[in-house]
Amino acid sequence: MTDLEQLYQRNTSFAETFTAGDLPIKPNLSTLVLTCVDARVDPAKYAGLELGDALVLRNVGARVTDAVALEVSMLWALMEMASGASPKMELVIVQHTKCGMARFAVPEVATQITERFGTEEVVDTYAIVDLEESLATDVARLRSNSIVPRELKVSGHIYDIETGRLQQVIETTRLTQG
Ligand SMILES: [Zn+2]
Repeated sequence: MTDLEQLYQRNTSFAETFTAGDLPIKPNLSTLVLTCVDARVDPAKYAGLELGDALVLRNVGARVTDAVALEVSMLWALMEMASGASPKMELVIVQHTKCGMARFAVPEVATQITERFGTEEVVDTYAIVDLEESLATDVARLRSNSIVPRELKVSGHIYDIETGRLQQVIETTRLTQG
């Protein structure tokens, strides 16, 4: 069986007992989680998110890129248009221990990546040296990006893949503050 066939086999079992077909588009929680693509990291597991609970964005390293800033702003705009009021949406950035993006901080790897892509931007955007530092950088990236709504609340967290524990390292703040 191919990996894709496996997915379909699992989906067949999933659909057999599926009962969540009438969930509203508006999530139960005001949380928008930004988390890493890493297969060991899943907010449905570490934060117990059920279908319909929360918005989740995943990218490599859970880093704030221009694309992430745009998507956060788009979601904000959609919610604002739907409700006619300022959304309560809160961005929860969850980076994790032993992230593959720490490899981008290794000088030889950084050099190879920079040569391969012909730009330093890839390493500059994604490399993680220290998780508290990268979370602080990502909050700063949101703050300095003029398309991101100033009323957005954001916080920074580290998920420990060895203990399964989540730890908040950046207090929840509005972009207007700090
Ligand atoms: Zn990762």
